[in-house]
Amino acid sequence: LGMPAVPTKLADRRVSRKIQVGSVAVGGDAPVSVQSMTTTRTSDIGATLQQIAELTASGCNIVRVACPTQDDADALAVIAKKSQIPVIADIHFQPKYVFAAIDAGCAAVRVNPGNIKQFDDKVKEIARAAKDTGTPIRIGVNAGSLDARLLKKYGKATPEALVESALWEASLFEEHGFGDIKISVKHNDPVVMVNAYRQLAAACDYPLHLGVTEAGPAFQGTIKSAVAFGALLSEGIGDTIRVSLSAPPVEEVKVGIQILESLNLKPRRLEIVSCPSCGRAQVDVYKLAEEVTAGLEGMEVPLRVAVMGCVVNGPGEAREADLGVASGNGKGQIFVKGEVIKTVPESKIVETLIEEAMKIAEQMEKDGVTS
Ligand code: SF4
Repeated sequence: LGMPAVPTKLADRRVSRKIQVGSVAVGGDAPVSVQSMTTTRTSDIGATLQQIAELTASGCNIVRVACPTQDDADALAVIAKKSQIPVIADIHFQPKYVFAAIDAGCAAVRVNPGNIKQFDDKVKEIARAAKDTGTPIRIGVNAGSLDARLLKKYGKATPEALVESALWEASLFEEHGFGDIKISVKHNDPVVMVNAYRQLAAACDYPLHLGVTEAGPAFQGTIKSAVAFGALLSEGIGDTIRVSLSAPPVEEVKVGIQILESLNLKPRRLEIVSCPSCGRAQVDVYKLAEEVTAGLEGMEVPLRVAVMGCVVNGPGEAREADLGVASGNGKGQIFVKGEVIKTVPESKIVETLIEEAMKIAEQMEKDGVTS
């Protein structure tokens, strides 16, 4: 009897071990975290910290910085200390920077075994240094830099090759009693990437860092990442995510957060429910939705605002939302919690919605409703 319950999530999370990346737990029952990477020269401490501050403000949980030179390694200590969010040093090629990053107090170190020469000889020392300081290691396997041995064995970066590489590197650490590890197996093709993560998820209990590498410019990269992460997260796979875009890193964070909010893996904040418009629209819906979105940007309360172009579906949707407008005859009916509170001329719709949204947000904040 009655309506079936609305599912609040798609699947139980895969059971993974929990590791601690500075103040942020990854894996186990920890919320799926959002990461990004700075694009500044890491050695430019001021610019890097400025970008980290912007990322922090946009909701980024963990930030990664590249460390290709000694100057970058030298900058890590100040950056790790002054950053408001945990800093992961990203190391390719040079084991000595792994030690430098650990000494600098970075919250974790990402190594790409395929790119670190003589890596196998250094694992014992890295494991000891990381263990002594409680620094987790991310084994970051990338299709583009797959171990030559595995490339030869598989012919190309297949899911099996990526997974074998990751598990092999993990086993080298395990031999030295080190298991404070998370793993990524990135590929630019979402289908290969999803298959690789599925196999990896079944083969180990390490927390997994999801990423579609070289996903492309903002539009394509957003779609690729959303599709791939959506497939995996809906199966409970994935403990931390990084959307890679050829766009400013703050954009990556916005997309990452939106993916998690869409799957109810993160409490929703402001949500604009706007119709696609059609031949019945009696107002410019695109413009209205854009203006309302811009006017409410940065709002932290979980407010649902409906912007509907006509009175066919309009009042119904607007009633379901905290606040909404249904347009008709050059006017907008403004709804708050299902009640029409006023009817305003089209030119006043945006300012009225923003005004009412502010009032509701204020009340929500007073009542302690935050996302
Ligand atoms: Fe068309 Fe009205 Fe539906 Fe918007 S709300 S898509 S204008 S029918």
